[in-house]
Amino acid sequence: MTTRPVHCGIFGGTFDPIHLGHTGAVRQIVAPALLDEVRVIPAAVPPHRDEPRVPAAARLDMVRIALADETGLVEDAREIERDGHSYTMDTVMELKAEFPGTRFSLILGLDAVLGLDRWHRWEDLLAQVAVIAMVRPGWTPPEPLPSWWRTGEGAPGPDSAGRIHLMAISPMDVSATRIRDDLRAGRDVRHLLHAGVHEYIRRHGLYSRSPDPRRTP
Ligand code: ATP
Repeated sequence: MTTRPVHCGIFGGTFDPIHLGHTGAVRQIVAPALLDEVRVIPAAVPPHRDEPRVPAAARLDMVRIALADETGLVEDAREIERDGHSYTMDTVMELKAEFPGTRFSLILGLDAVLGLDRWHRWEDLLAQVAVIAMVRPGWTPPEPLPSWWRTGEGAPGPDSAGRIHLMAISPMDVSATRIRDDLRAGRDVRHLLHAGVHEYIRRHGLYSRSPDPRRTP
């Protein structure tokens, strides 16, 4: 991958842990959205939800393992290195300064897009990036749409900031919440995780009912 992609996707999340639903979904939109690269950015402290269950360093390790053999998906540690609340607006401004000339699109599940107007500096954010909303095939936008919603056609282009581009994916029926629950209950989650991530969780005793503190990273 070039050091300066023309069009770069930003895929943020808690990744507690990263699972095959994440990588599978993003892989499906790289080509239709005309993305040269996707930066996968684990949040240090996500502003909109509870604190993650495992240390940020471990979530980042798992993202690195999951992406090691992916083409075009790159881990980005900036929010964890920055610490404190992970505001996407700060991340976007940092990326823009670091990669002049690159266009950025925010990749989100539809539910997250519908709540965008509660994000920190959301109007400034929409002035900077296009949004790629991952939706299930056959889905139609809710009625009425929020007043700020402006639908974009096709893949985001140079004038797409503020537009919501719907991209159909076949999502995998998995969430990190379910994986954490399954692990606590001792159920097998191998089919939901990258093999290396599964091994990392096992080795460090993450998400189990009584983790061995000596093995927690
Ligand atoms: P949790 O269950 O802890 O809320 P999660 O599995 O939803 O976690 P997040 O880290 O919160 O994972 O999600 C990061 C991004 O990945 C969000 O935009 C979310 O919509 C998307 N995402 C999560 N799971 C899937 C999936 N199975 N298919 C497609 N997108 C997903």
